[in-house]
Amino acid sequence: MLVEIIPVGESKIAVWGKDSSGQWWHFAYGVEDGRRGRAEHRKCAGCGEKFLRRVSKGQHGRGIYCSRICSNRATKPMRGRTGKDSPNWKGGKHVRKRDGYVTLHTKDRNGKTLWQLEHRLVMEKHLGRKLLPDETVHHKNGKQIG
Ligand SMILES: [Zn+2]
Repeated sequence: MLVEIIPVGESKIAVWGKDSSGQWWHFAYGVEDGRRGRAEHRKCAGCGEKFLRRVSKGQHGRGIYCSRICSNRATKPMRGRTGKDSPNWKGGKHVRKRDGYVTLHTKDRNGKTLWQLEHRLVMEKHLGRKLLPDETVHHKNGKQIG
């Protein structure tokens, strides 16, 4: 006899159920169908959340994550990360959506974060000094920006 039932998703096709002994079961086609497989509560190796998992042979060691998201995060750590955590982090380069110009993540003397236009920084490096506010940099294509 089941003491607790958790429908899976909206379809309610699959159901998790716990019997009075505390054993969890997984019903793939609903409780009425009667076909059940043992299930257990596990702790997600990714986020640490408790989740239910069907116990099936030949899958030992698998299914240690509560969701695909946690699994992906753990097995493909390069994905979905931004900023400094990202493998693409190259000191903070960012293409400005508004106009397509590349901005660089830099810090000013006070350690304040600044996004500066790359072509201006390149020019400053080239000149060996800071650009004046009224100085503009001409792009290769001749378009005036700055
Ligand atoms: Zn998780």
